[in-house]
Amino acid sequence: MVSMSETIFSKIIAGEIPCLKVYEDELVFAFLDINPLSSGHTLLIPKEPAPTLDRLSDESAAAIGRVLPRLCRAVMRASDATAYNILQNNGADAHQEVMHVHFHIIPRFPDRPSGQDGLGIGWRTGKLDPDNGAKLAAAIAANVSD
Ligand code: 5GP
Repeated sequence: MVSMSETIFSKIIAGEIPCLKVYEDELVFAFLDINPLSSGHTLLIPKEPAPTLDRLSDESAAAIGRVLPRLCRAVMRASDATAYNILQNNGADAHQEVMHVHFHIIPRFPDRPSGQDGLGIGWRTGKLDPDNGAKLAAAIAANVSD
């Protein structure tokens, strides 16, 4: 039995806590982030209270996948941003604070480069080791299931 979480986002969906809603349908809900990293910072969440993406049902995942690009277009049009990041944190070690799946849509502006609009991205890459990489790819492939 998968345990699901009751969080502040469940209360927002239920209307028990106010928010600035931008979209809602049977399966998903979207609203402005209360502490935006940039103007137009929007959160898209499934109504299903799954804590992390790997726990989300296919039905809710499909609903998110259908709405996310539409919402990105709407945020871009409304904010006049030139670019945007989709950020999706899973687990405390990945900076997740609210344990209910959510996708951040974070508009970016040319006059406010990375780090100056609240979102700094460190991208310190390594080099893929061929042997270890082959093992990892095989292990991941073997674990992809329905
Ligand atoms: P996380 O770090 O979990 O990926 O991000 C959680 C996000 O939820 C944060 O950006 C935070 O500002 C936002 N948030 C937390 N509580 C509320 C709330 O009550 N209302 C709204 N609109 N956003 C919230």
